[in-house]
Amino acid sequence: MEERTMREIKGGYINGEFARLHGAETIESLNPATEQPIAMVRLADRDDARNAIAAACAVQPFLRDTSRAERIDMLHSLQAAILARTDDIREATIEEYGGPLARAQWVSRYASDCLSRTADLLKDFPFERQIGDASVRLEPVGVSALIVPWNSIAGTICSKLASALAAGCATVIKPSELAPLQTQVVTEALHAAKLPAGAVNVVLGRGSDVGDELSINPGVRKISFTGSTSTGKHIARAAVDTMKRVSLSLSGKSASIVLPDADLDSAIPLALNAALMNNGQACVNGTRLLVPRIRLNEALSLVERTVSAMPVGDPRDPATVIGPLSTRSQYERIQRYIQVGLAQGATLVTGGEGRPDGLTKGFFVKPTVFADVHPEMDIAKEEIFGPVLCVLAYDSEDEAIRMANDSIYGLQAYVFSGRQEHGVAIASALEAGSVLVNRIVPETMAPFGGVKQSGVGREFGVYGLEAFLEPKSIVSPKH
Ligand code: NAD
Repeated sequence: MEERTMREIKGGYINGEFARLHGAETIESLNPATEQPIAMVRLADRDDARNAIAAACAVQPFLRDTSRAERIDMLHSLQAAILARTDDIREATIEEYGGPLARAQWVSRYASDCLSRTADLLKDFPFERQIGDASVRLEPVGVSALIVPWNSIAGTICSKLASALAAGCATVIKPSELAPLQTQVVTEALHAAKLPAGAVNVVLGRGSDVGDELSINPGVRKISFTGSTSTGKHIARAAVDTMKRVSLSLSGKSASIVLPDADLDSAIPLALNAALMNNGQACVNGTRLLVPRIRLNEALSLVERTVSAMPVGDPRDPATVIGPLSTRSQYERIQRYIQVGLAQGATLVTGGEGRPDGLTKGFFVKPTVFADVHPEMDIAKEEIFGPVLCVLAYDSEDEAIRMANDSIYGLQAYVFSGRQEHGVAIASALEAGSVLVNRIVPETMAPFGGVKQSGVGREFGVYGLEAFLEPKSIVSPKH
């Protein structure tokens, strides 16, 4: 696997400049495929976060008054700047995070695409609406903190930023401290876009410090958070004192239902892709595969054959399907869940503890499938966030719907059916923010978010834009 040189990264971009940081803590970043150090990162701290918030507050009145055309220009500049760094985003995604090539390619293109699509949306977006005697204006909510996790970081930053800037909001971005290389490339692109100073600030620091400051600081009016449900609850509690608007895109434990009329040869590969994409580190992984009991043996043998043949290894190799997990703690977490699954009585179909044969270093795990999984087992209830799939059998479609909905989460579900309209009918009974029927590629301008403990609010497209706007009603006498 190719080695790159060690880099030094300073985690602050404030008021249009790569900032001299107050924060003094440094951390080392490892390549998860080789365990070699790739970067020394100096983290921003609470004081840096305050400076970034002050810069955003200073430019907010200007952004509030920008015209539709000026906002579209900003989005186009950003889109061009991010597009110019597509290859670097892809490389950082592979090197720092172990994203397999095809996925890294998709993420790097998505990052610029979402900016141009939002610019298109803005062309006819109705910022003013007449409701009875009221003239309703959608105004920017104000300075917005965008707090994002380490997986798919470039895409998550760009999609939130696109909506915020389209709405006229200045932003402070807080990426995960586990994603310094990806953050650095994106930040350099943001700088190259030459937006007004302070419109976009980046503070790479710890959640308990920088993230907490963003959650409590009165200068911040809105938080758009993507990450785990436990952190989302923490942020929501911290943000309530200043009554910030909070959008939360959180954890998932998505169900994939294979209906009795499905063609297994086409449904199972799609369901496995949904379960294991991004090395099993996507919030939308369909990690509970629900199969009709009458077709269970047939389905399991197809699952076993496909998963045990999946190439695991160097994420740069186009043949690789599963790369390493992003960190040692992720590796250890997955090992623990595999042990818990076995201890609670699930049957191993393929995979299991330890590294795949032939791999002696790197945070690689065996893609693992469990059968005889019951809904009350931890592996069936909790988000594992690695390539571990649970197969559950059902006896009727009603039971499949009940099992799919029997979760504290409800992010994205998948339905596979031989008849499209039948699949859609089952989809409408599922408790999830989105349901994909006979496909696993989402519609990126459709609203995305979770029900139950998978989130609050929606992102992307028109719903994502409205999440950064506050309606104001002006009611005057009729003429
Ligand atoms: P995480 O919740 O640990 O961290 C997310 C971000 O929150 C990071 O930037 C982190 O530094 C910050 N943070 C941590 N503590 C904080 C605090 N007290 N105050 C403010 N900010 C704080 O999540 P992660 O491990 O980085 O990412 C994986 C999780 O994210 C999984 O649960 C996954 O399902 C979820 N996720 C959800 C979506 C979605 O769109 N629904 C997308 C990707 C990931």
